[in-house]
Amino acid sequence: MQSNRTDSRPKVVPWHGEGRSLFYVVVPHVDDPVATFDDRRAADFVVDLLGVVGSRDFLPVEVALAVAALTRDPDLDPEEVLERASDLLGGFGVEHVAGPGDTGALDYVNMGDTYAGTLAHDGADFVVTSWGDWYEGAEDEHAEETGERRCPYCGEWGEPEQDNLCSSCGNALD
Ligand SMILES: [Zn+2]
Repeated sequence: MQSNRTDSRPKVVPWHGEGRSLFYVVVPHVDDPVATFDDRRAADFVVDLLGVVGSRDFLPVEVALAVAALTRDPDLDPEEVLERASDLLGGFGVEHVAGPGDTGALDYVNMGDTYAGTLAHDGADFVVTSWGDWYEGAEDEHAEETGERRCPYCGEWGEPEQDNLCSSCGNALD
């Protein structure tokens, strides 16, 4: 039995037949699918936008579709897409955050809160995430690759010294 929560969220309904596949974006309380895509990833992207951007209940469908269309516009570079998306989303402009080491960087629409879902570009693809979640993932990746830890006291990265002490300030890392 499905929960009400599942039923009340936008979702992708796949359809396969007559030699082709289509992916319908379905939104609760809207009678017809709001968009149809040949590409599962494009449909999932719209659902991600609907579900998390701005951490509101749902983004209005027409806004999600307009933002998704921007991300597929071959005439716009990622920064232009994010700037226009900021206007559509009611954001506060485009911000940049670099992860530790060589974990890359994220350009994102500032929605006013560290953990507010937003449209971002990770240097390769558009993603729906919050910059806080992205940064935590980058920290985990950096820690795994290098064996370093970030000190909760001084914020410096380094390999733990004996007894698990920070190599910069000497405080305990745990
Ligand atoms: Zn320290």
